[in-house]
Amino acid sequence: MLDCFGRDINYLRISITDRCNLRCLYCMPEEGIDDKLTHSSILSLEDMARLVKISTSVGVRKVRLTGGEPLVRRNIAKLIDDISSLGLIDDIAITTNGVLFSDLAPELKKAGLNRVNFSLDSLQAEKFNYITRLGQVDKVIRSINTALEMDFQPVKINTVVIRGFNDDEILSLAKLAYDYPLHIRFIEFMPIGNLLYWKKNRLMKCEEVEDIIAKEYQLIDPNYIPGNGPAKYFNLQGGQGSVGFISPMSNHFCHECNRIRMTADGKLRGCLYDKKEIDLRFALENGASDEELRKLFIKAINDKPSRHHMNSGWGNNNARKMYQIGG
Ligand code: SAM
Ligand code: SF4
Repeated sequence: MLDCFGRDINYLRISITDRCNLRCLYCMPEEGIDDKLTHSSILSLEDMARLVKISTSVGVRKVRLTGGEPLVRRNIAKLIDDISSLGLIDDIAITTNGVLFSDLAPELKKAGLNRVNFSLDSLQAEKFNYITRLGQVDKVIRSINTALEMDFQPVKINTVVIRGFNDDEILSLAKLAYDYPLHIRFIEFMPIGNLLYWKKNRLMKCEEVEDIIAKEYQLIDPNYIPGNGPAKYFNLQGGQGSVGFISPMSNHFCHECNRIRMTADGKLRGCLYDKKEIDLRFALENGASDEELRKLFIKAINDKPSRHHMNSGWGNNNARKMYQIGG
């Protein structure tokens, strides 16, 4: 379905849980979250599958499961299987921190998972542990290897570039894309939620990251990469993978945004940075029919703002956090 600005909305991202097994400095407080969703306020996996089915009637063809950490939600494979069995979704993906992926990969693949994006902000054990507070980088590397071995194509890595923390690892990360068929996406640090760890001077623009890589590698126009979304991609001459740049802060890509988002407690959002939400859970609890729910999807698409306004300080006063909305 086209929204009011002519964008074809065909991509639904679902935060299937607000819980996580890591505590990234920029995402979650050390003690975890005290506003955790209760069992009754989180949508059941059956409701999520039903809502995905309804979303296909307004044109959704691609679904990403995220969180919080999607792999801590029990029975995620069943949800993937239910979505896949609809036969209406062309692409089912997850975004994960990779801690549990290696062990779960066979059942996720069998259920119908097509693709996986891993988040990885440092290749160095100590730094990785520092930024995630709890994580071991070896586990994530093992999961990335598993994804490559099991042919989850393409395998993407998301790195939030934080000046003073991992800007010295930009070339090591780019080298991964040279040595392996991996797609490394450098993401600008965004002021989200309660601005944990975010400071203006920690933001490093994609342009700067690209310049650093271009001094070492020849960046060439990319081969086709499925699901390439808002990233600007380049292949590395002679290398196997690609590097991508996602620049929500310095060069927003809202004019080509094709997504809507659903939170674990069933709120439909047109934008990561817009406060407007449509309450699907309330409708479900009140016995809404498929047609009534479909109308709520249409409303969310019609309400989708033309662009985000994060640069004008929205992050300071919005109560929603990244682990709630889903990154
Ligand atoms: N737990 C999963 C993971 O880490 O991949 C999925 C959820 S996490 C919220 C999704 C993505 O959002 C991660 O890649 C994370 O680095 C990114 N993210 C979280 N806070 C961010 C911020 N302030 N700026 C940019 N990216 C952020
Ligand atoms: Fe968890 Fe992902 Fe947030 Fe890190 S970024 S705390 S892994 S939800």
